[in-house]
Amino acid sequence: MLLSVGKTTTQLSEVPVRLLLVEDDLELVQDLRPELEQAGYAVDCVEDGEEALFLGETESYDLMVLDLGLPRLGGLAVLAKWRASGVDAPVLILTARDSWQEKVDGLKAGADDYLTKPFHHQELLARLQALLRRRYGSVSAQLEARDLVLDEEHQQVCVAGNSPVKLTATEFRLLRYFMLNPGKPLSKTRLTEHVYAQDFDRDSNLIEVYVSRLRDKIGRDRIETRRGQGYVFKA
Ligand code: CA
Repeated sequence: MLLSVGKTTTQLSEVPVRLLLVEDDLELVQDLRPELEQAGYAVDCVEDGEEALFLGETESYDLMVLDLGLPRLGGLAVLAKWRASGVDAPVLILTARDSWQEKVDGLKAGADDYLTKPFHHQELLARLQALLRRRYGSVSAQLEARDLVLDEEHQQVCVAGNSPVKLTATEFRLLRYFMLNPGKPLSKTRLTEHVYAQDFDRDSNLIEVYVSRLRDKIGRDRIETRRGQGYVFKA
């Protein structure tokens, strides 16, 4: 799709937001999950290899973080099976300290990057961003569409040069998805899939509420309602 960035026009592919976190250390998940969500990812978490294999093959994730030591099916086997069945999302593996063999095996099995435990969460976030950039091209920290500027780092939006308006995590994911898909009708179902992390809060009626809040922040005419089709963001 074409997205206007400043005065130039840059080709941007559809930027991903769905992340699968596979980790059986629940304390780590508890710490990490809100940070990933804060950073704008829609996160699903699973703690065993069988479930990870199933979800990875049936859902369309844009990025995966995979611990290698997992119950039921080890992370390496999960990764190899994903790759064998054509799952091509970037995968960052989490490995045990001092286990260089695991890293080598992981990279051979199709991992795109690795981090050794314990790690700084900021480093994980930076590496995930780098994977996305490598994979999807020009993903900058700032998205622009006409007089709207979305600041991804601070999750705020500027409209026509006015002072920035803060967005909630859900509003931010929704607006980012709109801005990356200008001019396309986006159904409530599709928006729901890309904006919410958990199945239990995937209530597509809530999208109306969030769209209405976004309109209050960026102007009513920027998001058009199309009967039977959903919404269209006007760049
Ligand atoms: Ca583990």
